[in-house]
Amino acid sequence: MNRIKYCFASILFLIGALAIAQEEGDAKPERLPGHYNQSKFKQMYEEFATPNTYRSASGAPGPDYYQQQADYVMDIELDDKNARIYGEETITYHNNAPEDLEFLWVQLDQNVRAKDSKSPLRNGDGVNIAYTAGNFAQTFVTEPFDGGFNIEFVKDANGKPLSYTINQTMMRVNIPQPLKSGEKISFSIKWWYNIPDHTVNRARSGYEYFPEDGNRAYVIAQFFPRMAVYSDVEGWQNHQFWGSGEFALPFGNYEVNITVPADHVLDATGVLQNRDEVFSKEMMKRYKEAKKSYDKPVLIVTQEDAEAAEKGFSEKKKTWKFRATNVRDYGFATSRKFIWDMQAVKIGGKDVMAVSLYPKEGNPLWEEQSTKAVVQTLKTYSKHTFDYPYHKAISVHAKNQGMEYPMICWNYGRPNKDGTYSDRTKFGMISVIIHEVGHNFFPMIVNSDERQWGWMDEGLDTFMQYLAEQEFGKNYPEVIAPNEKYPSRRGEPYKIVPYMSGDQNFLSPIMSNPENVYQLGPNAYGKPATALNILRETVMGEELFDHAFKTYAQRWKFKHPTPEDFFRTMEDASAVDLDWYWRGWFYTTDYVDIGVKGVKKYYVSNKPTKEMEKYMADRNLTEADLPPLVYLAEEESEDFDPELKGKSPTETSQNLKEFMMDNMTEAERAQVKEPKYFYEITFEKPGGIPMPLIVEYTYADGSKENVTYPPEIWRKNDAEVSRVLSSQKELVGIVVDPKLETADIDTTNNAWPSKDEKSDFEQFKENIKG
Ligand SMILES: [Zn+2]
Repeated sequence: MNRIKYCFASILFLIGALAIAQEEGDAKPERLPGHYNQSKFKQMYEEFATPNTYRSASGAPGPDYYQQQADYVMDIELDDKNARIYGEETITYHNNAPEDLEFLWVQLDQNVRAKDSKSPLRNGDGVNIAYTAGNFAQTFVTEPFDGGFNIEFVKDANGKPLSYTINQTMMRVNIPQPLKSGEKISFSIKWWYNIPDHTVNRARSGYEYFPEDGNRAYVIAQFFPRMAVYSDVEGWQNHQFWGSGEFALPFGNYEVNITVPADHVLDATGVLQNRDEVFSKEMMKRYKEAKKSYDKPVLIVTQEDAEAAEKGFSEKKKTWKFRATNVRDYGFATSRKFIWDMQAVKIGGKDVMAVSLYPKEGNPLWEEQSTKAVVQTLKTYSKHTFDYPYHKAISVHAKNQGMEYPMICWNYGRPNKDGTYSDRTKFGMISVIIHEVGHNFFPMIVNSDERQWGWMDEGLDTFMQYLAEQEFGKNYPEVIAPNEKYPSRRGEPYKIVPYMSGDQNFLSPIMSNPENVYQLGPNAYGKPATALNILRETVMGEELFDHAFKTYAQRWKFKHPTPEDFFRTMEDASAVDLDWYWRGWFYTTDYVDIGVKGVKKYYVSNKPTKEMEKYMADRNLTEADLPPLVYLAEEESEDFDPELKGKSPTETSQNLKEFMMDNMTEAERAQVKEPKYFYEITFEKPGGIPMPLIVEYTYADGSKENVTYPPEIWRKNDAEVSRVLSSQKELVGIVVDPKLETADIDTTNNAWPSKDEKSDFEQFKENIKG
């Protein structure tokens, strides 16, 4: 049976070859639509930086890869009454670059809130349709908040002042001699700043004030002058902090002492060094229990404890001392209002503490869900990347926040005053916790440059978030019923369709700076996450994708990858050529639209078709000059002969019959199942992104056949391709992308006959979206 198929194929191929020969013989060949020289399948030599000894062509760090290191020793004091931070730090900066550095760049992120900040002046969008009351007051009514850094001194290791120049959010420290390659330098900075109310200012850090009890809950980050990244790719990454493009930070070791009111509960990046001094006996006892509790969290500070503390307003102070090794940033949260729970989770044979901090305003939602979400994140992400390397992961509840730092993050999700909450609030909260805890992996450990490439952390994290959410759904039947899917906001292909089919004037390629795009959410989160999900499920398959993705995470953990390092590694570890995919999804604003254009029926003819006759006449050929041929005649053409319709190929074609007699045994011939129906199916691709052509064929007996043609089917013609289908059964229906796997923006052209569109396929669309 295989053999006869092969024979048919080779004869059809021969006819195909003749047809092409004819086309080439024409004096003026017409260019078919979609025949581009510059196809999506061109390799990306022009877009990618040339590999070098720092970064290899494989996508791995090269033999000369280096990165800088910045170590910090800090004393921080929180003035709760005035909502101010005072700090003094000694930075030790290691120059591991092969070149000397004439000056150092330090980031002063809080200057985005300085009175003279240029950040609000750069927007040219006119009047908003509405303003939040806080935003309106801040913009039009009140004096601008003065939240910039007040630098008191910058000194060298001997206490001598160092000159410096502040340009907006960047400070150049003018060192007297260049910092030689391989050497380090220590210098100190003293500063203070006014902490913003983050619920008004939409800051990534600040306090929320609770008028009912007069307390503040602080979530504090970007609170210290931080070294900029110096690398083989950007030199100094001193692109200003305008507000959207996040952070680029080197790794280092931190020793941080944080002084707060004595009745505050505090947690932070790093290992707590003086637990005995800052914990009560009762807290210590509960903490020891929590370390052995693998199935549920243990309360270290109960709601009752927190409510009592809210009334205290101690004048005394307490210093919490932390050390953190190999982190790229630092954050802490502190308040009298915090309830504190923890549980242990085994990751790669080691215990990690999953931790939540929340005011009573977060309950009952927070005590029910937060630590669960932390546990699920650590498990799913570790499985797909590397074992979570730190000893804890903390989720802090802060109103309207979703922001990440090493080991600690801020998350929204607040019930109504009476403690009730909607599913939307609940799933929004679980999702943001998964997302922000997940940022420990991207970009806190796989340390990409957020200032330049928002998608490298947001996109990869949102993709992983989708996987963790789906696993959360399976692991917690009390939250998601076993027959239901976790309602992920992003990741399902159909959910990105409204964005990708939107007005091209407001779209940017994923490969854009976060400051320069209109819709950062879909651009840096939704679209790359969906692109990776489709890559995994539909293009590469889970096995190849998961291995390649893990390879990327392992190659670049505790290092600084670029987009090319990711793109190259995904190909390097899978042997799947993906240049077309990166080009389509990441470098353009094209969309996916693939459909079925038409179907022609053919039957085997006993004589040459009119087209074949012309071909022979043009060349003075007769049938005797050619090898024995089999002809397919189109039903709707002038070749149509009703007598021959429905007959088997060997009944009709003497050439085929003789071929089989000469080349096959009687037993082999008895096995043959001859096709009765021949179709030429034309598929169209109005969309710019090539994708696998996923087709479901339905036959007259109700049976279905699914065929996925590889994306390379579009490599020579980007607009239209035709397939020949032979079958013993009559073809009655075709659906392209029947399971909505490709983010096809227009499904009205996805079915043949098109009147059948409202049937099964429409029903499936309704179901998947329901
Ligand atoms: Zn994020």
